[in-house]
Amino acid sequence: APAPPPAQHLFSDPAEIEALRGNLLAWYDRCKRDLPWRTLAATEPDADRRAYAVWVSEIMLQQTQVATVIDYYNRWMQKWPTLQALAQASLEEVNELWAGLGYYSRGKRLQEAARKVVSELAGRMPRTAEDLQKLLPGVGRYTAGAIASISYGQATGVVDGNVIRVLCRLRCIGADSSSPAVIDRLWDMANALVDRSRPGDFNQALMELGATVCVPKAPLCRECPVKQHCQARRRKLFGKPAPVPDVEDCGVGGCPLCPPATEPWDSSLGVTNFPRKAAKKQPRVARTATCVLERRGCHGAPEYLIVQRPSSGLLAGLWEFPSLPLAQGLQEEKQREALADHLQDWTGQPVAAGGLRFVGEVVHIFSHIHQTYLVYSLPLDGDVTLDPALSPSRWVTEEEFHASAVSTAMKKVL
Ligand code: SF4
Repeated sequence: APAPPPAQHLFSDPAEIEALRGNLLAWYDRCKRDLPWRTLAATEPDADRRAYAVWVSEIMLQQTQVATVIDYYNRWMQKWPTLQALAQASLEEVNELWAGLGYYSRGKRLQEAARKVVSELAGRMPRTAEDLQKLLPGVGRYTAGAIASISYGQATGVVDGNVIRVLCRLRCIGADSSSPAVIDRLWDMANALVDRSRPGDFNQALMELGATVCVPKAPLCRECPVKQHCQARRRKLFGKPAPVPDVEDCGVGGCPLCPPATEPWDSSLGVTNFPRKAAKKQPRVARTATCVLERRGCHGAPEYLIVQRPSSGLLAGLWEFPSLPLAQGLQEEKQREALADHLQDWTGQPVAAGGLRFVGEVVHIFSHIHQTYLVYSLPLDGDVTLDPALSPSRWVTEEEFHASAVSTAMKKVL
């Protein structure tokens, strides 16, 4: 078995754990933000309905800011107030509501999971973190812990980006916070710290602390309710962590949880020495030619052709202007020709490459792709008969375009 980590990285004193729980919960009761899913979770008597609300909010909050999520969450809950209602929705409706929120597979999997609960689990949500993670597609360890603790009162911890930051600072953990060794240790710590009588509130409090006080760049340490338990702050103020019996075992270089010897404590950074992450992988660079085909609609207003993407892969099932991924280093003239050929497939009539007007470039960053759209436009005279044998396509007004399941990137293109 691996040796236990040095004491400065642990919470081993029961009195300290109790004090930390009390301070954190008292602060949360006083200062927590008013959020619609919290209100519902606190007032809804039915545990499965609470779980559904927490689940929807947690999936939306992955990779997305709270301020953006609120409106989407409210519209979602209005349209599908229960799991049963969501199970009956179509993917098209889900994509339309999700449009602009990004990471579209989240909405799709949420709906698939709702269908599974209704059809295979007799409409009853699994009630423990273990079962939630095992049985529901798209529900990972974090989301399972959040649903189980907030909705069903299971005393289980959660570890998300905010919790990672808070715990790494509280215990001076400076090894790569995305490494499995550190993540495992943080889960152990979260499970040990979680308050047994108010696990959901405790978990939300820890995340809230990371979101509003222990923020990445300029944490508000003076206002922090757990500052007396914080080793990073102690180190900043006094130049060293709290004296613990075997702290001498924990030196730069010899400890699996300390910062690497090559990047020791930097006093100009203070508590923001923690957490640390290995350098991010550079996103893949991609270029796509896209064309806004425009015609005059029956009332003279412009209409645009949009086509549907395949039902799996990036932006699955979303609508876009006809687009063609380009090979690296393809010359402008060749791009234009390739795009003209591609458009011909959609319109069923010859498209002259010279008729395409280059409008400009739109850059959009997906999580792992740095995408540049080369935007062309092509006004069409007369009607175009769309081939029903191809993927679905349709003409839309500007208003209809914005109400369709289109990505933010395509809105930028328009
Ligand atoms: Fe974060 Fe500062 Fe609080 Fe420590 S004292 S947990 S660094 S806000």
